[in-house]
Amino acid sequence: MINLRLLWTWDHCAQWTAARAGVHDWGASNEFSGNAEDFVREYSLLLRWCGQHGIDGVVVWGLLRDGHGGVEAAKRLCEVADAAGVKLLAGVGLNAYGGVYYEGASEWSLDQHLNKYPELYARRADGQRHIFQMPGNAPQPFRHACPSRPENMEYCLDGLRWLMETVPLAGVQVESGDTYVCECSLCRERRQNPISSQSWDDMAMFYGPAAEAVWSVRPGATVILETYSHPQPVADGTTPGFGGGSPPWAPECVAQFPRGAYVQWVADYFSAPRNPVPWTTRAPEGFAGNIMRAHLATWWMARGEEVAVDWLALLAQQSLAHGFDGLSIFGEKSPFRTGCELNYLALADYGSAANPEADLASFLTRVAAPLLGGPERAMEYLRLARCIAVPADLEGAMAQARRQAAQLSGRQADRWTWLAWYLSRWAYDAQG
Ligand SMILES: [Zn+2]
Repeated sequence: MINLRLLWTWDHCAQWTAARAGVHDWGASNEFSGNAEDFVREYSLLLRWCGQHGIDGVVVWGLLRDGHGGVEAAKRLCEVADAAGVKLLAGVGLNAYGGVYYEGASEWSLDQHLNKYPELYARRADGQRHIFQMPGNAPQPFRHACPSRPENMEYCLDGLRWLMETVPLAGVQVESGDTYVCECSLCRERRQNPISSQSWDDMAMFYGPAAEAVWSVRPGATVILETYSHPQPVADGTTPGFGGGSPPWAPECVAQFPRGAYVQWVADYFSAPRNPVPWTTRAPEGFAGNIMRAHLATWWMARGEEVAVDWLALLAQQSLAHGFDGLSIFGEKSPFRTGCELNYLALADYGSAANPEADLASFLTRVAAPLLGGPERAMEYLRLARCIAVPADLEGAMAQARRQAAQLSGRQADRWTWLAWYLSRWAYDAQG
């Protein structure tokens, strides 16, 4: 069974009002274009929808910012989440990604901490401060703290306790950083194993104390530990970065993770559509759970809002067969966009009591059909949506979507209209 279904978000991409200006399509560490009311409204819509449709939790990166109401806005969202029966989880970078308080004058903003104590910065191999400018839609550089400095560990744990004491969150998703790691002499001497853009030793060192800090305030809190990796072993001598397999030393590092937490893994390069290979490794046992996360239907690595219910079925099937009991996909956009709506509903359905085998046909027949005008139409919807990758078929697919919209009414018709419009973007671009 899938026991934990999560939607993962950056605040600046959250667009649950169908028509709202100034929102990013994708990216990390952008500005939030709006005020506290905008922030609370967008996430209230998201949380309530999740509560009504069987999604267990929402991860928010950028939860705490001065620009959208700071602690007070986050508290309001906790009330909405509680009323909806959904877990609100803060994304927290331990040595990067802004720390507990993503942006603002708070002492719990990692940037403020490093401004105050510049000697606590992480260092690159050349000795310079480790301030990383990520390529892509991520304008604010990531400032990193050295994980070997006890002052930084103490600051991180104090921050997590402050967070849990101040904001009544259901829990956190924590990350040790995957935008390269500190290479100061302390870190180099401490680590037992090679590094890439991430360090398994850093995860093993930080995740236990971080989880204990959270649980010291709220013993039942959900704590999710990011590995940035798939558990499939890598035996070619390389040390993969984000989305790669696990090097030989990964299991001994995972063995040091706190047992009451969920371990989160990355499926992108081990599943459809990118690389649908069979898995030979099971999820590690003894944890609260193991979550598979994928960048499906987001402009990260793929096409935003595309219909991905078939790929998600395959991912759920592989996950179920190998001992994973959680799934996480991006949840930034409104179900007004039918691709998102179907993906979220599939996330809620696969591995549930109604669909224990994560069967695609079952989902299309029971869940999608009433939304799209019947079972045959649901199957056709998926087939036509996939034509964005087949330029020669686009015109015909758009014409068929328009015909279906004309024969239906209300939201059923709207969903086919959305498909015709979605396909037309690719047809327009293909015409040059
Ligand atoms: Zn260091």
